[in-house]
Amino acid sequence: MPDRLPVRVNPYKLAEVGKTLQGSLPAANMGRLGEVLIEDALEIACTFVFLKNGNNFMLNAEVVATPVIRCQRCLQSMVFPLNHKFELIMVETEEQAERMLQELEPCVIAEDELLELSDLIEDEILLSLPSYPKHEHDCSIKGINGTSDAEVSSENNQADKKGINPFSVLEQLKS
Ligand SMILES: [Zn+2]
Repeated sequence: MPDRLPVRVNPYKLAEVGKTLQGSLPAANMGRLGEVLIEDALEIACTFVFLKNGNNFMLNAEVVATPVIRCQRCLQSMVFPLNHKFELIMVETEEQAERMLQELEPCVIAEDELLELSDLIEDEILLSLPSYPKHEHDCSIKGINGTSDAEVSSENNQADKKGINPFSVLEQLKS
C-alpha cells in the first residue's frame, strides 16, 4: 500500500531541498473528477519531484491511474489507463507568469501559500481525459450483430439506471 500524500505542501521549501514525494491520492475527495468517474474508489499514484534549477523553482510530476469512465458511444464503462507527466514552474505573481517562456507551464503561488496537491492532480487528470471518450473497438455495432432487441433494450435500461446515482441525489439534498 503506497503512502498517502499530504494534502498541501509548501513547494518552495520542498524545491529548496530537492524533495521527492511519492504516494497516492484518493479520487474520492475530488468532486469535479467524481462527476466523470463511474467508480470513484480510485487511488491515483503520484510522484512529485520538487527542485531548484538556477533561480527557478520547478515541479516535475507523474500521475498513474486507471479511471473507469463512460464510453460516449455505447454508454458502457471503460477503463482509461492514464500515465501523465507534467512540469510546472512556480511563480509568485501573474506578471511573472506572463513573462514565462512558452514551454514552461507556470503555477502561480505566493511564497507563504500552500500548494493543494489534490487540486493540482484533479486538474491535470481532467485535462488528460478525452472530452469524448469511446472504446477502441467499434462498440456501436453491438445490437445489430447478433444481439436481440430485448437484450439491447435491457442494456439501455441498465445504462439509464447507472446514469442517475441515488447517492449523489442524497448528497445534494444534505448540502
Ligand atoms: Zn463503447
